[in-house]
Amino acid sequence: MAGEKIAVGSVEIVSVSDGQGDMSPAEVFPASDIRIWQTEYADLLDDAGLIHPRFGSFVLYSGGKTVLVDTGLGGPDGTLLTQLADSGVERRAVDLVVLTHIHPDHVGWNLSDGSPTFPAARYLVSKTDWDHWTQPEVRSQAPHVDAQMLPLESLDVLDLIQDEYDVTAEIKTVPTPGHTPGHVSLLISSAGESAFVLGDVAHSPAQAQYTDWSPGFDTDPDLARDTRHSVLDHLEEGSTLVASGHFPHPGFGRFVRSGERRIWRPE
Ligand SMILES: [Zn+2]
Repeated sequence: MAGEKIAVGSVEIVSVSDGQGDMSPAEVFPASDIRIWQTEYADLLDDAGLIHPRFGSFVLYSGGKTVLVDTGLGGPDGTLLTQLADSGVERRAVDLVVLTHIHPDHVGWNLSDGSPTFPAARYLVSKTDWDHWTQPEVRSQAPHVDAQMLPLESLDVLDLIQDEYDVTAEIKTVPTPGHTPGHVSLLISSAGESAFVLGDVAHSPAQAQYTDWSPGFDTDPDLARDTRHSVLDHLEEGSTLVASGHFPHPGFGRFVRSGERRIWRPE
């Protein structure tokens, strides 16, 4: 499946994926309780008890610009380029690539054989994340930085952004730190409607209710948890449309109240 679309005012969001992971929920969320997964979220588990976070990207059409949010894990099994083509998105038609953060499953198709995969695009990433991941001691443990990030600078296609940055007149970045130091989400506002591209503020619909469950790979778990609580509270309050790359396809839905619980309601 690829190319599901949703409209937000005059902005169109298209959902595409680069594949999905196979992970034990207890490994991803060390604080989670496997019995809760088995009883309350059995629909997210396969027969082996694994969860499958997607490597999802979104294409945003706004004001004549084509914006790609995140570029997947990359590699021979990656499906992003096929899904983009199947959705009618030509690589050279992408004007802007916005990276929510510098993790390997979000930057994997920045480059292909050393050249920008999206040859006409500027690549936008938070300066805070860039400064963190390019530190020698961090970079030496993170091969994706040398492979998929540093060449963007020498190829002169990189723009480092800070604070709330206007990607287009209808789309701006919102700092949502903790998962990584410079992690950003995107707020879309158009013709009285709004939507929020979540990034890795959350990785599973189970975190709608169990918002304290932090993935083991948050850079700053306490800050990530605080960010997750405040962002999800705010999105629930506004019943805001959300686009989430790691949630089940196509990743569109809302955080809503159902009795005592907060749930993810796909749409
Ligand atoms: Zn991440």
